[in-house]
Amino acid sequence: MEKEKYLAETKKALTPLLAIEEAARCLLCHDAPCSKACPAGTDPAKFIRSLRFRNLKGAVETIRTNNPLGAICSRVCPYDKYCEGACSRCGIDNPIKIGELQRYLTDHEQAIGMKVNDKVELNKEKVAVIGSGPSGLTAAAGLALKGYKVTVFEEKDVLGGWLSYGIPPQRLPQNVVENEIDYIKELGVEFKTNCKVGKEISVDALRADGYKAFLVSCGIQKGKNVDVKGADLEGVVNGVDFLAEAKTKKGEVKVGSHVIVIGGGDVAMDCASTAKLLGAEDVKIVYRRTIEKMPASTEEREYIQQHLNIPVFTGFKPAEIVGQGGKVTALKAEGMFDASTMELAADMVIFAVGQEAEDVKAIADLNAADVFAAGDIVEDDKTVVQAVASGKLAVEKIEAYLTGKSGLDEVASVKEVVK
Ligand SMILES: Cc1cc2nc3c(=O)[nH]c(=O)nc-3n(C[C@H](O)[C@H](O)[C@H](O)COP(=O)(O)OP(=O)(O)OC[C@H]3O[C@@H](n4cnc5c(N)ncnc54)[C@H](O)[C@@H]3O)c2cc1C
Ligand code: SF4
Repeated sequence: MEKEKYLAETKKALTPLLAIEEAARCLLCHDAPCSKACPAGTDPAKFIRSLRFRNLKGAVETIRTNNPLGAICSRVCPYDKYCEGACSRCGIDNPIKIGELQRYLTDHEQAIGMKVNDKVELNKEKVAVIGSGPSGLTAAAGLALKGYKVTVFEEKDVLGGWLSYGIPPQRLPQNVVENEIDYIKELGVEFKTNCKVGKEISVDALRADGYKAFLVSCGIQKGKNVDVKGADLEGVVNGVDFLAEAKTKKGEVKVGSHVIVIGGGDVAMDCASTAKLLGAEDVKIVYRRTIEKMPASTEEREYIQQHLNIPVFTGFKPAEIVGQGGKVTALKAEGMFDASTMELAADMVIFAVGQEAEDVKAIADLNAADVFAAGDIVEDDKTVVQAVASGKLAVEKIEAYLTGKSGLDEVASVKEVVK
């Protein structure tokens, strides 16, 4: 039962009638601020206009020609930050539900088996993409559509990066990820899993094998640990490891009965909801700053607090994890703004306090003219849509490099921001 709750998508899809009614609320703004606000260049004003005139095919084409991960983005984008936040209707009542309309259209596309992008003849250079997260997938699709022979190298056995290992199924069902990856495979992109570049194979070996350009889209993978007494006790886990295990094992994981999540970002919210949906009796979140400073999206936090009844203790940081017989039994926390302390019983403590990059230089020399970078390793705003935008930019840069249309200065601009 718990497993079903965890695997089922929480947000229900719009019905055809509701989708048409929502599209009818659109003001068809001439300047379309929604379209200007999408980092990946989606044009909501255009697809909503098509939907209003019952032109579903045209609406799907607008989405799909721009973004190979349109169905994924429709589910995980923080719209309030982008298109919906810019929507002119914000000043009247509520923004148009752009994300839900995009989901309605991409669900329709999938249901009728519509294919907008056809495979083209792959007669150009070989390009290696290192990492199959959203930036790598977007770049691979874009390059294949231009005729390049692309191989994506992925160190894990499942493709998709955080789409498959991080974002839980109640927000992003795995079949949605698989459908979009299948679509990219149909464009002729090849995938090699369980192959870590820099370990199993080197960029030099790939060069010798005829690859002419490399995109490092390896993301930021390692969950940060917190240096606190008791962090090595049984029952203390890292948030991204916990989410990865739950998602890849389709919910067949053991969770504690009394779970404490430490952190205030989206990963912390995902850990809390996952633990609760998988049957934890009670889940609590402990966060060091104020609720206003929490980086998690307001929608996610409200869902956690109001629908899953998970309390958030703000202004506290962990002081010690208490254990007995090597197993965690409680968390001691101390106030950030005063001298208060508290002790909460727990048999599982999950740290969700951010991720850090592994050594990117071990993968490739980013100063080499044929090496490019995209995704979380170069973007300040670490979201899927930003990774898509970054993958699209990488396509332009790689094509410019391979066709000799740009100088090295321009090419370097993609790389120089790598931390
Ligand atoms: C739990 C969680 C929830 C999130 N929720 C959201 C959300 O709701 N909305 C949103 O917009 N964003 C969300 N994000 C952020 C988003 O998932 C990332 O910004 C995005 O996935 C980054 O994409 P990327 O292309 O950089 O690659 P990543 O997704 O980081 O994937 C990189 C891939 O490269 C592989 N790799 C690494 N090194 C090598 C190597 N040497 N050789 C071969 N392969 C390698 C990795 O195994 C991985 O599969 C979330 C992230 C997490 C962790
Ligand atoms: S800004 Fe809002 S109302 Fe204006 S075109 Fe875009 S979705 Fe429609």
